[in-house]
Order: sequence, then C-alpha cells, then structure tokens
Amino acid sequence: MKNYPEHIRKVQRDFDIPDEDVIEVKIGEEEVRVCDYCNTVLIDEKGTAVQTAYLTDYGLICGGCIGTTKQNIAYLEGDSVFHERWYQEGIDRD
Ligand SMILES: [Zn+2]
Repeated sequence: MKNYPEHIRKVQRDFDIPDEDVIEVKIGEEEVRVCDYCNTVLIDEKGTAVQTAYLTDYGLICGGCIGTTKQNIAYLEGDSVFHERWYQEGIDRD
C-alpha cells in the first residue's frame, strides 16, 4: 500500500480508483503550479499566487474552472502558498 496523502485518497474513494491507476505528479522546486483543468499558471516559481487559485479535493483550480466545485481554500493574488503542506508535498526532492 502506497503512502499517498489524504487529498489523493479522497479522490480515490470518490471515483473508486485503485492504487495502480494513480499518477502522482511531482514537480521541481522552482517550477510554477498550474490549474489542474486548463493549465493556467496560478502559482509562480516562488510559491506566490499570481491570480486567484482555489485548493479543492481534486487539485488546484483557477477561477475560470472552479464552477460549483467545493473549495477548501482560496488564495488571492499575492498570497504565498510556500509553507502550505500540499505545496511542500508536491515538490520532488529525490
Ligand atoms: Zn483553469
């Protein structure tokens, strides 16, 4: 059993996805974060929001894609997400 974080476990439960079908994407320390739906840049390479970004159970989503998806946290332009757990967990340090 792999040690996936809780937000991935939730998506697995909601959509009945087995471990072998999970594709975990980690990115480099100085890379930007994009909307999981449309790839718009939301977080710059320093971990600062460049536009409103919503953290949801299904990933990081921009204002154009959020629709009725439940948001857990909204980050406004200029907010730092650098110390957020999801941000740190997404960095590939291998
Ligand atoms: Zn989007």
